[in-house]
Amino acid sequence: MRHLKTQVVIAGAGPVGSVAAYYLAMNGIDVILLESGVDCALDLRASTFHPPTLEMLDQFGITEKLIARGLKAPIYHFRERKTGEVIDFDMTEIADETRFPYRIQCEQYHLSRMLSEAVLAQPGADVKFSHRLVGFNQDQDGVDIYAESPTDILQIRADFLIGADGSNSIVRKWLDVDFDGFTYPEKFLCYTTEERLEDKLPNLCHVNYVSDPNEWMVLLKVPSLWRVLVPAKEEQPDAELLADHKKNDVFDRLLGDGAGVATEHRTIYRVHQRVAKKFVHDRVSIIGDAAHLNNPIGGFGMNSGIHDAFNLCDKLVRIYNDAADADSMLGLFERQRHKTTHDFIQAQTIRNMEYLSEGEDGVHDKRKEEMMRLHDDPEARRGFLLRQSMIESLELEKAVA
Ligand SMILES: Cc1cc2nc3c(=O)[nH]c(=O)nc-3n(C[C@H](O)[C@H](O)[C@H](O)COP(=O)(O)OP(=O)(O)OC[C@H]3O[C@@H](n4cnc5c(N)ncnc54)[C@H](O)[C@@H]3O)c2cc1C
Repeated sequence: MRHLKTQVVIAGAGPVGSVAAYYLAMNGIDVILLESGVDCALDLRASTFHPPTLEMLDQFGITEKLIARGLKAPIYHFRERKTGEVIDFDMTEIADETRFPYRIQCEQYHLSRMLSEAVLAQPGADVKFSHRLVGFNQDQDGVDIYAESPTDILQIRADFLIGADGSNSIVRKWLDVDFDGFTYPEKFLCYTTEERLEDKLPNLCHVNYVSDPNEWMVLLKVPSLWRVLVPAKEEQPDAELLADHKKNDVFDRLLGDGAGVATEHRTIYRVHQRVAKKFVHDRVSIIGDAAHLNNPIGGFGMNSGIHDAFNLCDKLVRIYNDAADADSMLGLFERQRHKTTHDFIQAQTIRNMEYLSEGEDGVHDKRKEEMMRLHDDPEARRGFLLRQSMIESLELEKAVA
């Protein structure tokens, strides 16, 4: 068995763990980032970076790189599939609140890759790919962490452990924390295509949420592709959902010529709304998907995980560099992020999802009328823009003592 010592170990080099590792390394704290994969995952999940996240990442000089790789999306649409009505929101209206009054549409793996490479360049920091955290024990003075590599077991003694190891977090499972909430009954089916949807659908912008009683849709553009997200029946076997005839049906309804559309990826997701009861257990904390899950409507999952990472690492830096009390700092992190996750992220994503799926007895018509009223009222529209851009969530966090 190999033995190492460090100050902080982070499990998971997804976007959230990579941000946490870089934040600590930049502040002179020794850190080891463990990643079970051979490299950062290249999956196509998050693609939206919201203004507060861009502001945070700007401290690292990363935002301009994301802007260079991504697409600026100042406008997003709520669209009605049946009638073709469009309710548009323009984030330049909140340019007095943020230096980045737009979303950046860019795949999440660019961030994980850039940051894990940057972590390696910092003295006292290391990234260990092909190292899967398998267990840990904590005592009053620190944590013993065990990771499995292809050839041996590595034991690391650290002051703190951060679990940023995603939705199936082994750190959360070892802590035996309740992860209450629910799983949506439907499956989510995501296609990517190089087809130029903007040439075929009038007035399309880069981010479009489309309501429909039978098949709502999210149409998102990233630099090289369009992503098309639709719901699918729980009982329908995955093989059928991934088959050409299903793809042809979806694109027939969207564009009129499904068979003529080639897709690059077809992926099925189960989607959950869950929050861990506790984010901190003495010297071990969980952040990102390890701590909370939500539906992707609105693009809050990765962004809120990055906000967790900034909040927690700010507290750790104060513990190390200003001799702040560890229990009170970690307690404050937990109170701030737990409340924001529960009261804002969960509530808002559930509302976003309800808006897309029509519901029964004309409830969608009522919601649509409310949305139109909100859109036409400058003050209400501004409130909506501040909520959907996550600026409001960070105000909520600041108010928690
Ligand atoms: C279809 C879809 C669209 C989405 N769109 C958006 C969006 O636009 N905006 C947004 O904000 N969010 C979006 N999300 C959510 C977003 O993808 C997640 O919230 C985000 O990936 C969470 O990041 P993370 O770093 O916490 O976890 P992950 O990205 O899951 O990373 C966890 C990492 O930990 C590693 N790991 C796991 N176990 C171990 C272990 N035992 N030891 C070491 N390493 C381990 C994994 O290999 C992985 O690299 C979307 C999700 C889906 C499914």
